[in-house]
Amino acid sequence: MADQEAIGFVGLGRMGEPIAWNLLRAGHPLTVWNRTRGKGAALVAAGAREAWDPAETGSAGGIVFTMLSDDRALEQVVGSRGFLERLAPGGIHVSLSTVSPETSRRLAERHAGEGSAYVAAPVFGRPEAAAAGKLWVCLSGEATARGRAVALLRAVSQGLFELGDDPGAANVAKLCGNFLIAAAMEAMSEAFTLGEKNGIDPKTLADLFGQTLFACPIYQNYGKTIAEGRFTPAGFALPLGLKDMSLVLATATSSKTPMPVANLVRDRLLTGIARGREDHDWSALSLGAREEAGLTRRPEPEGTGS
Ligand code: NAP
Repeated sequence: MADQEAIGFVGLGRMGEPIAWNLLRAGHPLTVWNRTRGKGAALVAAGAREAWDPAETGSAGGIVFTMLSDDRALEQVVGSRGFLERLAPGGIHVSLSTVSPETSRRLAERHAGEGSAYVAAPVFGRPEAAAAGKLWVCLSGEATARGRAVALLRAVSQGLFELGDDPGAANVAKLCGNFLIAAAMEAMSEAFTLGEKNGIDPKTLADLFGQTLFACPIYQNYGKTIAEGRFTPAGFALPLGLKDMSLVLATATSSKTPMPVANLVRDRLLTGIARGREDHDWSALSLGAREEAGLTRRPEPEGTGS
């Protein structure tokens, strides 16, 4: 494994850290950077090198992965004191964060202007899936760079979907997927509320539909979470869910695509923030339907910290 390609990795949050671990375990020499220092300590103890700034993660012709909260964070690490210039000539930035298609297109142009390439590679799967190397990756950008990224992304994923040369395309697909998940959570919540108000335990409905009509991971996993009301600790924090639904609606507006359900789930998430649920998982958007139906909130399960 000694000749595995060296990788720079920026952003060791809930998703970034387990992905970085899988790259390290696959034998890639790793240089990591995180805004809050110390989050990479275990990786460093296992052989990774800690960079002093994002720029230090890049080298001529090298590869840098980023996994950051949002568009602003991504632009910041690429920009001032960033690695953009360091990657040229011939380097690749593999951008895993969920950001807007426009940000990806703009960054791809900036990279091309410097002589490096930008590949959008947003992922599906929560931190547990990241730790297990079972993410699904959407991939788009310049074809040669994409090909080089594919080989590395196999270490962190169970499958990749290529969406072509437009660097924004993978982000559009990711936003479509997150909209579908949020809409499914709202639908489950309304159905479970209907059941509960008519004497059926939500857990019974989650089991019934998860085993029959909707036997797929989103209904099974989020169905259980919603039925149990177990929203902390967050795997995907509610403010990030709000960020994603805002990106969905911005993309919908710019492409003249009415999305009434997306407006509804965005408002559910906004209500969650207004009610002080920033530390909850985004599946807490499901509380909206219950509360509107006059159901008092379930007591939080013991040991969940809120
Ligand atoms: P997270 O745990 O909140 O981690 C966010 C990371 O971004 C941290 O490393 C944080 O650094 C860094 N960061 C934030 N603002 C920054 C800034 N201005 N400059 C530099 N670094 C900054 O979030 P996450 O759950 O890992 O999500 C990361 C991305 O993956 C998001 O785009 C999210 O939408 C996407 N995603 C998440 C999931 C999930 O289930 N969690 C699944 C698929 C995709 P600090 O440590 O200093 O705060």
